Amino acid sequence: MNLSERITNLHESQTLAMARKSRELKAQGIQVINLSLGEPDFNTPDFIKEAAKRAIDENYSHYSPVSGYADLREVISKKFARDNGLTYSPDEIVVSTGAKQSLINVVMCLVNPGDEVIILAPYWVSYTAMVQLAGGIPVFVSAGVEQDYKPTAEQIERAITPRTKLLLFSTPCNPTGSVFTYDELSALADVLRLHPHVFAISDEIYEHIIFDEKHISLASFEGMRDRVITVNGLSKGFAMTGWRIGFIGAPREIAQACDKYQGQYTSGTCTISQRAAIAALEADPSEISYMKDAFLRRRDIVLDLLGKIPGFKVNVPKGAFYVFPDVSELLGKRFGDLVIRNTEDLCMYFLNQAHVSLVTGDAFGAEKCIRISYAASETDLIEAIARIHQAVNNLT
Ligand code: PLP
Repeated sequence: MNLSERITNLHESQTLAMARKSRELKAQGIQVINLSLGEPDFNTPDFIKEAAKRAIDENYSHYSPVSGYADLREVISKKFARDNGLTYSPDEIVVSTGAKQSLINVVMCLVNPGDEVIILAPYWVSYTAMVQLAGGIPVFVSAGVEQDYKPTAEQIERAITPRTKLLLFSTPCNPTGSVFTYDELSALADVLRLHPHVFAISDEIYEHIIFDEKHISLASFEGMRDRVITVNGLSKGFAMTGWRIGFIGAPREIAQACDKYQGQYTSGTCTISQRAAIAALEADPSEISYMKDAFLRRRDIVLDLLGKIPGFKVNVPKGAFYVFPDVSELLGKRFGDLVIRNTEDLCMYFLNQAHVSLVTGDAFGAEKCIRISYAASETDLIEAIARIHQAVNNLT
């Protein structure tokens, strides 16, 4: 088939590939515990579902404005002020089909072919593909487990060139759960002030799933509001992955560009989801904190159990629902004739022998790590980690 170079060169999302393999095993009747997925295992809270039902009855069944209903953008504007100390007027807000579309809108509107985009690694899988789709050149700045997977402002500054257009990162971070502190973001803002040609996307989709730190927005630092695009959405904190609501707060010109781009791509996102989003964002964040509390309990269970597995160097995630152990000590080990050459072999080994599905770190730009999602029941987590532990003990 004579497909375009664009799609031929595009990598399939590896998280989805792993999920497909585990479905195949399940179809054979094998009990696979899936710790590979990036979504809360909770249902959407009832008060949000009720708002959606009302929207159907009230016939919200026509096209909405491309950037979302005005009253939804008003609510988002208030949310930015309430939770993040950010002032974005409704015309500086664009609502999209998930944060994923928010991100690609911005990348497509800012990045020209040949522009460099600094991506902090480990990074969320789709960042690289998005930059490549725009013809940009991804430039990775990495940090390992010893740095809590957070590159320093100095490291980032060293990667900036006259061709750098954009910096892209998430806090709390998928896949590591790391959270940038006030001081770290302040140092980053200092660097960005010295390089006025660089924009930044701060992906804050995990804002409400944060444990020992306070969530800070890069845009809240002096001089950053005109350079930083704040991406957020309802998928993770509100357990609404399927509803497809993401949004940006951005300088007006960038918001207008995203509106124009989205207008030719998808138009406004689902009207029912937009009405539900108003209810979600008007509610006090304490309404949804029971999910965060559950994630925290699970994190502590998982950390305790993983800490006992030889060869797992485990970070302490401060947010999101992932832990990202460095397993370099296990590479080169054997199970019979099988040699574990890399984390792909290791994840395949865990899938085949322990029937636990995880994701390799190289999907996230960290080839010595694996990602474990703890968006699963405590029973499943305990069982899965016991199986992983046993599988590691069986390596020689
Ligand atoms: N950003 C990060 C860091 C994510 O982990 C995800 C989802 O996995 C997204 C954005 C996309 O979120 P959405 O489902 O709203 O498109």
